[in-house]
Amino acid sequence: MNCFYHPDRPAVTTCTDCGKGLCSECASHSTPILCPECFDKRKEGNIRKDIRSLVIYVLLFIAGYSLAPDDPGKSPEYNPFMIGYALVSIVTGWQFLTRYQPLFLQYASIVIWFFYFLVKILLSVWVGAILSPFIIIRKIYRIVKYWKMQY
Ligand SMILES: [Zn+2]
Ligand SMILES: [Zn+2]
Repeated sequence: MNCFYHPDRPAVTTCTDCGKGLCSECASHSTPILCPECFDKRKEGNIRKDIRSLVIYVLLFIAGYSLAPDDPGKSPEYNPFMIGYALVSIVTGWQFLTRYQPLFLQYASIVIWFFYFLVKILLSVWVGAILSPFIIIRKIYRIVKYWKMQY
């Protein structure tokens, strides 16, 4: 097999995603090894995924913000910002905790799952409240990084 882009050169490897033959020069552009098309596809996919999450966070914040009572008084838990932030935090916290789901749960009974869900929801708000700013900054940073990435 020869390189898809340089038919005069032998292929030394293949694109990780589509399996096209690539010569040593083409193979040196990216890790994992990708052809230009698959490189762009992954780049766009990653950018789209992060933008989608940010849009969801913004929508949740707006939803929470508008859920607040008209007269929040002095109670901080009725503050529109707090409610918006808490809604975002439940999702970021939930996503974070899902990554660290204990393995034994695979074999756990439905009762254990039920309690795990309750604990997870409560934990999510707190974990998310701490992590949300970092998660949001990291996503923005990643979008910029992918955006600038050249083959
Ligand atoms: Zn490819
Ligand atoms: Zn090539």
